[in-house]
Amino acid sequence: MTLEHRIADVEERLKLACERSGRSRDDINIIAVTKYVSVASTMDVIRAGLVHVGENRWQNAQDKWHAAHSLSESGVLGEAGQAIWHFIGSLQTNKVKEVVGRFSYIHSLDRESLAAAIDKKAEELGIIVPCFLQVNVSGEDSKHGVAPEELVAFTKELSRFTHVKIEGLMTMAPYEMEPEQTRPVFRGLRQLRDELNQQAVTNEPVTGLSMGMSNDFEVAVEEGANWLRLGTILVGKEEE
Ligand SMILES: *Cc1c(COP(=O)(O)O)cnc(C)c1O
Repeated sequence: MTLEHRIADVEERLKLACERSGRSRDDINIIAVTKYVSVASTMDVIRAGLVHVGENRWQNAQDKWHAAHSLSESGVLGEAGQAIWHFIGSLQTNKVKEVVGRFSYIHSLDRESLAAAIDKKAEELGIIVPCFLQVNVSGEDSKHGVAPEELVAFTKELSRFTHVKIEGLMTMAPYEMEPEQTRPVFRGLRQLRDELNQQAVTNEPVTGLSMGMSNDFEVAVEEGANWLRLGTILVGKEEE
């Protein structure tokens, strides 16, 4: 399948999921996860008009980030401007200086020391970084993220970091042969967000729900996702 076909296919399935759940397509952002493909394919993705691009490691992302940056400076992208980068993988504190300022959003904020590092770098740059707090809703040992019962306390601790904006919550569901099985995880994240807002833990309401990947994005949409992170199904996967 070509990239155009994959985009059309995802859009069709997304439209149906929106219809089933009475949602508007406009409320959902797609992040094209390019971690499985080359620099050239990543540029194709950006040229195809997918604005939001996600990578999970600075090591693998840097060549793509620089290539995309020259692309936008050369004006090839025209009015569309440039890609908006999302850091979706677990972030080591020593990589924060590379990532903050280059990636507009961070989806994996899961500890206070990381927030402190992001805040410090953002202050130096004079920016505010929108972050998603990663929550381990499924409770799997292999997953990063704060435990659901620690979320309120964690969120309160972050209030002193004035250059970190809590954009939303993020989770990863376990891989399931039957995607329907992921529903409780996505529903759980939405309920956690609603609880934060009911308790007014943050100054401004938390809106974002970063959830849903290739295997389970339709269920995530039905449960309120507004940021989908799509790799294989949208961008494809290339062998090394
Ligand atoms: C790789 C990755 C994705 C995309 O995975 P696919 O299943 O290929 O869509 C989404 N989120 C995170 C955090 C990832 O690391």
